[in-house]
Amino acid sequence: MSQKPVLVVGGGIGGLATALALSRKGIAVQVLEQAPEFKEIGAGIQLGPNVFRMFEVLGLTEQMFHWSAFPSGLEFRDSITGETVMELAIDKRFHDKYHAPYGVIHRSDLLNVILDACKQSNLIKLATSQKIVTIDDDGSTVTARTDTGETYQGSALIGCDGLWSTVREKIVGDGKPVVSGHIAYRAVLPTAEWPAEYRIPKMIVWCGEKTHLVHYPLRRGELFNLVVVFHSDRYEEGWDTYGDPTELHARFAEKCEPVRTLLQKVNAWKMWVLCDRPPIKNWTKGRITLLGDAAHPMLQYLAQGGNMAMEDAVCLAIQLEASGGDYAAAFQKYQELRYLRTARVQLMARVFGEIYHASGVNRELRNKVLREWMTQGGVDMSWLYGEQPELPHVENVPQPPPTRLMS
Ligand SMILES: Cc1cc2nc3c(=O)[nH]c(=O)nc-3n(C[C@H](O)[C@H](O)[C@H](O)COP(=O)(O)OP(=O)(O)OC[C@H]3O[C@@H](n4cnc5c(N)ncnc54)[C@H](O)[C@@H]3O)c2cc1C
Repeated sequence: MSQKPVLVVGGGIGGLATALALSRKGIAVQVLEQAPEFKEIGAGIQLGPNVFRMFEVLGLTEQMFHWSAFPSGLEFRDSITGETVMELAIDKRFHDKYHAPYGVIHRSDLLNVILDACKQSNLIKLATSQKIVTIDDDGSTVTARTDTGETYQGSALIGCDGLWSTVREKIVGDGKPVVSGHIAYRAVLPTAEWPAEYRIPKMIVWCGEKTHLVHYPLRRGELFNLVVVFHSDRYEEGWDTYGDPTELHARFAEKCEPVRTLLQKVNAWKMWVLCDRPPIKNWTKGRITLLGDAAHPMLQYLAQGGNMAMEDAVCLAIQLEASGGDYAAAFQKYQELRYLRTARVQLMARVFGEIYHASGVNRELRNKVLREWMTQGGVDMSWLYGEQPELPHVENVPQPPPTRLMS
């Protein structure tokens, strides 16, 4: 292969996972991150069994187990009546089915585990404060230029620069993401400040009309994560800014008492305007491709955007290794192998959003169907959590220890 590194634009979850996956195949990488440091926001992220299998491939299982919490179950409650409409155990049966656990982790812990592994590789160079503004592919070399005029040359370039991707703008050029009209507020609390009644190692989703709330333990049970989503057309763009508690409480005024009490526990919320895009199948051009949210941004209702980025990373590394240095061919193959997988998750995430936020008859039907699923032993999520043909077979990820909550 050429001596020039592969340029990875963006050092979030997807970018660092890509750098690591490529380095594991002996490929040199230069990561270019616009922020002054590699950093994730203070909130939780759910990790499906599909991504734990990728951690096993990347040699990260032990560290991820160290930092994660492992809920014993997932409960869906109706946030108007308070009724539990479905409860799924995340137990040995679940593990046996998907050969891996379901976990939750603080985003900064997730990023730091991958970052530390990247730092241990002499094939990865990490550069911060490098905001890429232009890219050029002359057929044998890709040049990326920063806003301060610095240039980097690589044998290929992977745009892992997220929802508002500059690389996507250059190679796809399909404008801004779609604003969903759904707003998320997130907060993290020490477990000791979390109401004793809900200090249980479960993920609980309170589904309401045009709203939902989800909470789960984080960081080995030391913290609790709270995510609240509601419909609002007040915002067009916004990411990681402070939320307005008055608006939040007004949106949840009709909800049952436990939900309102949980919301009162938090003083400072961070806000996100949730966006996605319709799926596409052409996110590659020559020696430049996209990965993660840059390629297929999705709503968070299946908790899979980050998981998909890490699956992409493993798939792309396999294709690059197999291509013998033909980057353009490897990128085409990677795109071909991934676009229907990620399109399905993008579209199903929108459907799950409708289910979570159903009103009127739709809400009654949702509750009825969820109750039926529970009596039938749960929902089959193999399409999402099961093995994928383009990803390596993993025999079994070990069973993690149960999470004990700190008080
Ligand atoms: C409320 C909410 C809850 C979610 N929950 C989950 C969940 O439970 N599970 C899950 O898997 N996913 C979840 N997601 C989705 C997940 O956060 C994203 O899919 C994931 O962060 C995508 O990773 P990425 O690396 O592709 O992009 P990003 O995380 O956005 O990283 C992009 C990086 O590129 C950098 N960058 C941008 N432009 C440039 C440039 N021009 N030059 C250099 N660097 C640049 C940015 O600074 C950033 O570091 C959730 C999202 C939201 C909003």
